[in-house]
Amino acid sequence: MSQYRIAIIGGGPGGLTLARLLHLGGLTVSVFERDTHADDRPQGGTLDLHADTGQRALRLAGLERQFLAAARYDDQGIRLYDSSGTLLFGDDESDGDRPEVDRTALRHMLIESLPAGMIRWGTRVDRIEPGNDGRHDVIAGGVRESFDLVVGADGAWSKVRALLSDAKPVYEGVTMVELGFDDVDRRHPAVAALTGRGKMFALGDNRGLILQRNGHAHIRGYFALRTEQPWAPALEDATPDAIRHRILEYLTGWGDALTNAVWSADTVIGVRPLYALPVGHRWAHRPGMTLIGDAAHLMSPFGGEGVNLAMTDAADLAAALIQGDDAAVERFEEAMAARAAPAADGAAQGLRHSISPTGPAAALAHFREVMVAAA
Ligand SMILES: Cc1cc2nc3c(=O)[nH]c(=O)nc-3n(C[C@H](O)[C@H](O)[C@H](O)COP(=O)(O)OP(=O)(O)OC[C@H]3O[C@@H](n4cnc5c(N)ncnc54)[C@H](O)[C@@H]3O)c2cc1C
Repeated sequence: MSQYRIAIIGGGPGGLTLARLLHLGGLTVSVFERDTHADDRPQGGTLDLHADTGQRALRLAGLERQFLAAARYDDQGIRLYDSSGTLLFGDDESDGDRPEVDRTALRHMLIESLPAGMIRWGTRVDRIEPGNDGRHDVIAGGVRESFDLVVGADGAWSKVRALLSDAKPVYEGVTMVELGFDDVDRRHPAVAALTGRGKMFALGDNRGLILQRNGHAHIRGYFALRTEQPWAPALEDATPDAIRHRILEYLTGWGDALTNAVWSADTVIGVRPLYALPVGHRWAHRPGMTLIGDAAHLMSPFGGEGVNLAMTDAADLAAALIQGDDAAVERFEEAMAARAAPAADGAAQGLRHSISPTGPAAALAHFREVMVAAA
């Protein structure tokens, strides 16, 4: 069994959790990651890890202590404003079990749990080809290497997926621009007060401003716009100020607290059109190759489930592989698809309700429903 070689393509939360669990199970693993090191590119904002999915995977990975050191239970509040900046709904309580953890902190705790050399940094996989005896060759930078199992944990635009399925991510009609605010309690007290302890949504006609508290006194902002074609001001072509001006044009008539927040952002981090795979995406099982996380079931972040699913996939696939037969991997794929479908449906609905022609109405109804259900 120790000769069985597994290639994980992608060192995101899904791939790294899988690598850790397989390593604990005594299997031989290589992680191919195109980033040259852990902090190669901005990793994105904060993630809420749910008790029975993301947190469970970290417990199985023996990383509960590290997780508790990084988890921010205080940042679980949620607020909803209308476009004038009037508060419609606010729950600043922090008694839930979905603490926030910065993506960077999560990545570091997983990386540090792996033996040196297991992650092949700066190694972009170019293609996968069928090899001998049911194995597959991973080709990266002109080097070809043979593996018994290739796991595509390579995210939205997965190269591995293309060998299993014709499905392609489809633009969901909303583009987000990501903004950064640093040292907020000292330098941006108004933005900090607007955000509260957690995240806030200000929603208007087919657009929204979302602010979310991260660790280290940072707030990550997202301007979201429903637009038929992806909004495409590449950061290389447009200065951050030009992008800020464009956003403010879209926010004409919005309350001062909201427009001032956009104007005061320290950085314009990126422009992100939202894509999703078809809800219920699945493929015919093929021995020697599988997918986890966004590669298998990319969905919009408006369900808050993506990373939790990716880490749960990792936990379940590790259990199947440690059990050791191909039938267990096929059963894992069935269970993963069944679990992801309702989450993907919820994420699509969350996006439709949040960035909607009726502004905050649908989101408000949803928040109230959740509160009544929780009472
Ligand atoms: C703005 C935003 C906010 C989000 N907020 C939340 C949230 O609050 N809660 C939540 O649960 N989810 C959230 N998500 C979703 C979450 O980020 C993803 O579901 C999660 O990161 C998926 O993990 P993954 O490991 O499957 O893929 P990824 O995180 O995409 O990791 C894939 C890795 O593969 C590497 N890679 C790709 N191609 C190659 C290649 N050819 N060769 C080598 N390496 C390669 C990439 O560099 C990357 O490191 C959010 C997403 C976005 C965009």
